[in-house]
Amino acid sequence: MRPRIAITGSPVTHDRRPGCKVNQGYVDALTRAGALPLLLPVLDPALADEVVADMDGLLLTGGGDISPSWYGQEPVPEVYGVDLDRDRWELALITAARAAGLPILGVCRGAQILNVAAGGSLIQDLPSVSQESHGLRVREHDEVHPVGIEPGSMLADVVGSERLGVNSLHHQSLALVGRGLRAVAWSPDGVIEAVESAERAPILAVQWHPELMIDHPRHQLLFDWLVDAASIGVAQGVAV
Ligand code: MN
Repeated sequence: MRPRIAITGSPVTHDRRPGCKVNQGYVDALTRAGALPLLLPVLDPALADEVVADMDGLLLTGGGDISPSWYGQEPVPEVYGVDLDRDRWELALITAARAAGLPILGVCRGAQILNVAAGGSLIQDLPSVSQESHGLRVREHDEVHPVGIEPGSMLADVVGSERLGVNSLHHQSLALVGRGLRAVAWSPDGVIEAVESAERAPILAVQWHPELMIDHPRHQLLFDWLVDAASIGVAQGVAV
């Protein structure tokens, strides 16, 4: 059986009707890694345990900003795309997944919501505090800045390197790191670019978008890691 990986969907409006979408890059990367990817719509948070019981791994995707109210701040004017229903759903999903021991890969907003769920906080607008540009959308498939990776970390082991070129499509980043997570990669200006946890529910979360860089083999390795970790759960009957 292929491990079932839930991909969090992004709310969208299409033909003036509300809906949910997932970028194909995530689907392709997980399929290539041997998983069965399944799109998760935004649901009632009360359903989180039930969803997690049917899944082997969780991929938290990119998207709009998280409401700063979750980490006790008022939004600055640059905050955009806040969706409280999505926030509530993903916060419940993370709590359920961590309790169930499900492996989690977080991408961009995914890393940020993992951190907020763990009691951490965010820098609401990086251009206000950093000289280096982290919002290079026109070069979304390119290595636009390096990250230095903590030697001996799970991330260094997964990508097989302590230095990696990454794309950068974010205007926020992690500030205070939440409980059970540790920062393991930084850009040259000191912005946190990855966190991880080696607890029973293993977590890797990155600020860049590996799904847009899977032609660079080291970025596909992050998805391979999630699917491998989910396969162990399938074999042990953890999430069955
Ligand atoms: Mn960056």
